Amino acid sequence: MNARADTDITAVLDRFQEAGKIARFWLRDDDAIDPTPALDRLLDLTDAHGVPVALAVIPEPTGEALVERLENAPLASVTVHGWRHANHAIEPFKKRELGADRPIDVVLAELSLGFGKLSALHGSRFQPVLVPPWNRIDTALLPSLSRLGFRAFSVYGPEKPAALPMINTHVDVMDWHGTRGCRDRDTLRREIVSRLNVCLETDGCLGLLTHHLVHDEAVWAFLGHLFEATGSHPACRWVGLPDLVGDMPPPEE
Ligand SMILES: [Zn+2]
Repeated sequence: MNARADTDITAVLDRFQEAGKIARFWLRDDDAIDPTPALDRLLDLTDAHGVPVALAVIPEPTGEALVERLENAPLASVTVHGWRHANHAIEPFKKRELGADRPIDVVLAELSLGFGKLSALHGSRFQPVLVPPWNRIDTALLPSLSRLGFRAFSVYGPEKPAALPMINTHVDVMDWHGTRGCRDRDTLRREIVSRLNVCLETDGCLGLLTHHLVHDEAVWAFLGHLFEATGSHPACRWVGLPDLVGDMPPPEE
């Protein structure tokens, strides 16, 4: 029996193949600071399947230890995850570091520090992309980001026109408000199929969002199965963030 069509990832990839198209996935993993067993597990798993991973690294507390670990992770890239991942939200706003709660110059100064620190530490592994903590950023900051060197930013949800290009994630494996483990596997597959159907029409990408430090066994198992099912399909490619940044229009002078 065929799996139900709305959760059958292979069936939608077959449709890409029939259309002569490639389904592009990318993986963003948030909150890296230092090497940990969980980071090793992520890097080993992605490496085993040839899946590039964009690590959203928290600039203020990170340092050389992560640089040394990533020297053995050729498929990993590094992006700027805020500055300290500190919550500055004033009630009733949800947690955010890059909101309108502080003067804009203070926030931009932190982002500039984060950009400078991570680009100096990670060299060619660094990608000029801002990943706002909690996927939240005040739109008033966006027009100033290219001046700091950012080429794009990445939040959660469908891409929208904005003052800086978006390279977003669309499927989050974590059940943040319930079990704090893996979300229901069929729901995840349904979201992946739904996003792939959009990508088939728009040539967009599917961004998968993970948080290695808090994965339960079910998340690791889901990722392993997904990498296996997609990696062996001729119409699917896991692309690195450098390729996606390379596809962006050149920055305006
Ligand atoms: Zn985060």
